[in-house]
Amino acid sequence: RHSYRELPLAPRYKELGEPYHTPVPATPLPEPKMVHFNAPLALELGLDISEAQSPKLLDILAGNRPWPKYEPSASVYAGHQFGAWVPQLGDGRALLIAEVRTPAGARMELQLKGSGPTPYSRGLDGRAVLRSSIREYLCSEAMHALGVPTTRCLSLVASPEPVYREAVETAGVVCRVAPSFVRFGQFEFFYQNGQRQHLAPLAEHVIEEHFPHLKDRPDRYAAWLDEVVERTAKLIAQWQTLGFCHGVMNTDNFSALGLTLDYGPFGFMDAFRQYHICNHSDFEGRYAYYAQPEIGQWNCSRLLRACLPLLSDREEEALEIATGIFERYAPVYGQAIMRRWVDKLGLYELRESDTELVNGFLAILQRGKNDFTRSFRNLSKVRTDSEEPAVGAREEILDLEAYDAWIADYRARLRSEGNTDDELRALRMNRINPKYVLRNHLAQAAIEKAETGDYAEVARLVRLFARPFDEQPDMEAYAESPPDELRHIEVSCSS
Ligand code: AMP
Ligand code: MG
Ligand code: MG
Repeated sequence: RHSYRELPLAPRYKELGEPYHTPVPATPLPEPKMVHFNAPLALELGLDISEAQSPKLLDILAGNRPWPKYEPSASVYAGHQFGAWVPQLGDGRALLIAEVRTPAGARMELQLKGSGPTPYSRGLDGRAVLRSSIREYLCSEAMHALGVPTTRCLSLVASPEPVYREAVETAGVVCRVAPSFVRFGQFEFFYQNGQRQHLAPLAEHVIEEHFPHLKDRPDRYAAWLDEVVERTAKLIAQWQTLGFCHGVMNTDNFSALGLTLDYGPFGFMDAFRQYHICNHSDFEGRYAYYAQPEIGQWNCSRLLRACLPLLSDREEEALEIATGIFERYAPVYGQAIMRRWVDKLGLYELRESDTELVNGFLAILQRGKNDFTRSFRNLSKVRTDSEEPAVGAREEILDLEAYDAWIADYRARLRSEGNTDDELRALRMNRINPKYVLRNHLAQAAIEKAETGDYAEVARLVRLFARPFDEQPDMEAYAESPPDELRHIEVSCSS
């Protein structure tokens, strides 16, 4: 274990230099308070967690002093926001504050979010409100525990500094952690702005650091893009089968490593609705639940287009390679999502007819506005050694006639593959169908307490969502669907 002062630095991204990122100091934040410190992640990074209380480390994580021997910087990127091209974005309120080598040999980047303006702030304040910082902190850690590739959070700091949104709120800063924060939008920036000579060094960096198994291949750019497309398709298959809606699937929020990136107006669905729109600012429903897989594919097309110059000097050949990579998205996604759906049903085999079985179940949930998470979790209570209605599994369901008919098919399907050890099936299902997800109303309760200076509920949720698949008997209420009056909490791009 090291003091943060002695943690080995590995400034590989830093070495890329301009024009990829610009040195910028953080803007000091008054009276910082640690709302939560992620001790398990700190241990992974090799930090001495007894320093969680250290005022100097708190100052670093608030942006009040730099990481020793590292000059913070903001990256430039562009992107398609809600489908529209925006030629320049960038880290408008984020700063890379360190690149460390962990005891396991990994290189991890630490980034403050909400640390003040940068050259890419476009006139905005560079801050984040405590509310959205809590949501990012809780959700990224919850996603990690759910097994979803994601950026993570090391710390959450609050300050009484006022931040002006629809109302006056107060500031929060998270320290995000990921192997890399490189986004699709970074490649788009250099491609679209006539700086194509800067594409290759960025791609080389990403491949060398994050796809080392590809680095000696002559076709490494194509191989890397192929893997990004594959990871993105699989990531979105995970989102869909968890009922997770990202909310702002702009290309600047898509990671070149296939990580879930930028937690803003995200939401886990309560009642299942294909057309669910979690982001109140998404007026057209571009990022509705059902649309996420196709948007992921479209985003890949934007990345591929930006990387055409890397694929061949001959335009026609580059297009052909890019098209080949693009066309893998749909089958990879289709395979991944069906595998996850049948895993959620506890099936061993994946059969063609299972699409109908899955869609039949989803249709029942949709018609009855049934809770997505609870309905899947409850399926582990269905027994194959009885024809009785599945006690406990039905409680959520509105259309019982359709449900009982579906259960009969489900039982027949289980028996047809000899899948009749109900205890074993329940164990397997309960490792893919979470009991606890970060529902908006739970986050909201923790936010309201934290805004009064009481951080206990944040800590309780962190503990809860670290074990989303385990029964936690004293936390039963946190697995319930929200009461009607808490179903429509609005989350928007305002953060
Ligand atoms: P997002 O919609 O969260 O992906 O943000 C889009 C862009 O706006 C990114 O370049 C952000 O850095 C920037 N941005 C969002 N909020 C702020 C803010 N309060 N101050 C400065 N830049 C911001
Ligand atoms: Mg963003
Ligand atoms: Mg954001």
